[in-house]
Amino acid sequence: MSNKAVIIGGGAAGLFCAGLAAQRGLDVTVLDKNAKPARKLLITGKGRCNVTNNCTPEDFLQNVRTNPRFLYSAIHAFAPADTMRFFEERGVPLKTERGSRVFPVSDKAVEIVDTLTAFAKQSGVKIVPKTRAAAVSCENGAVTGVVCEDRQKFDAAAVVIATGGASYPLTGSNGDGYRLAAQLGHSVIPSRPSLVPVVTAEPWCAEMMGLSLKNVTLTLKNANNKVVYQELGEMLFTHFGISGPLVLSASSYMTEPPQTYRMSIDMKPALEPDQLDARILRDFEEQKNKDFANSLDALLPRKMIPVVVRLSGIPADTKVNSVTREQRRKLVSLIKALPLTPIRFRPIEEAIITSGGVSVKEISPKTMESKLINGLFFAGEVIDVDAFTGGFNLQIAFATAFLAAQSLCPEQ
Ligand SMILES: Cc1cc2nc3c(=O)[nH]c(=O)nc-3n(C[C@H](O)[C@H](O)[C@H](O)COP(=O)(O)OP(=O)(O)OC[C@H]3O[C@@H](n4cnc5c(N)ncnc54)[C@H](O)[C@@H]3O)c2cc1C
Repeated sequence: MSNKAVIIGGGAAGLFCAGLAAQRGLDVTVLDKNAKPARKLLITGKGRCNVTNNCTPEDFLQNVRTNPRFLYSAIHAFAPADTMRFFEERGVPLKTERGSRVFPVSDKAVEIVDTLTAFAKQSGVKIVPKTRAAAVSCENGAVTGVVCEDRQKFDAAAVVIATGGASYPLTGSNGDGYRLAAQLGHSVIPSRPSLVPVVTAEPWCAEMMGLSLKNVTLTLKNANNKVVYQELGEMLFTHFGISGPLVLSASSYMTEPPQTYRMSIDMKPALEPDQLDARILRDFEEQKNKDFANSLDALLPRKMIPVVVRLSGIPADTKVNSVTREQRRKLVSLIKALPLTPIRFRPIEEAIITSGGVSVKEISPKTMESKLINGLFFAGEVIDVDAFTGGFNLQIAFATAFLAAQSLCPEQ
């Protein structure tokens, strides 16, 4: 049997899988439609690349939102500690930040990209850029190669589809993998955005466009008024609504239509309502003759003040010494729970992760091989698995790629 393997997609999963398979003696070719591989990896973690999460396999599985059980074997075969060891052994010092998020000490995603690319090349992998796979060819239920858009053909006894999801299509991952898998009879769970900004009903969000909030608490409640997400962190107002780390995380808890949820922001999570009231009273006493609209500078970001003043219902020109206790109570409630009404998600193109993908029912969780076609494998985001933010999604790419590589070339 030929020892040729073709990996479709030179992203995190594809490059890692290719390097490992080549080290085991396979003749490996990676096809990528872009001029350079791993374009998405370059923009991960805002250019810093949150490469994994420094946690146990059990904790990792807790953070996988879709089909965690499918990943049990993969994450035990290649755990976050293995990812860290892989990069550190290749001269990339790593650091662990809040939430056990792991980044290169340099804060440069390009270091991770260069290391993965060098690993693949030094292991003997041939990377063929600007080459878009159009179909996987099969005979008698087994793969025989890959046919590309430009009519090039690559023979192979094994093919790995590592084409990523459908988000940020300019990076190359535009859902091609779903089409390739479907052509071969695989079921594909419809994709939907996950870790995605949220469009809100409140027109005042646009007024605060560009305002970034730190150390606020975002609360998400479902239609039954049950808190489904509550976290302290950072978020951002935009022309359409809200974005930033807290919002992206909250979006992945919104499994029902977005408009059935309610959100609120606690601008002063360190203060209980009584403490906040006392603080406001103190501020008011220090500026007795000021108008209410000019009295909140020490309490709130400048861009937010006109909005809060309006929502409080207190006339802007009220002298602070005549603001009533009842009015103050309303102001406190507003600052502790600024209400937001989600309407919809931003489109999948703007999502960090694609939820959905090739059904896990038709992939062996121990090898990542197709249960339908011999010699066909899947790795990374193309599979119907996705996780919360924190480096878990790249860990999925590495762990599934590891299993696929092992199975393409079983140890002698
Ligand atoms: C803005 C942003 C920030 C992110 N930050 C993080 C983070 O910090 N930590 C984290 O864990 N996750 C992060 N993610 C998610 C993470 O980037 C993905 O989960 C991960 O890249 C998936 O790896 P992959 O190899 O499966 O797919 P990709 O990295 O998307 O790679 C797929 C590759 O396949 C190629 N390809 C596609 N179709 C074809 C075809 N037909 N022929 C040839 N080649 C093809 C593409 O060009 C691409 O190079 C982020 C995502 C985004 C969009």
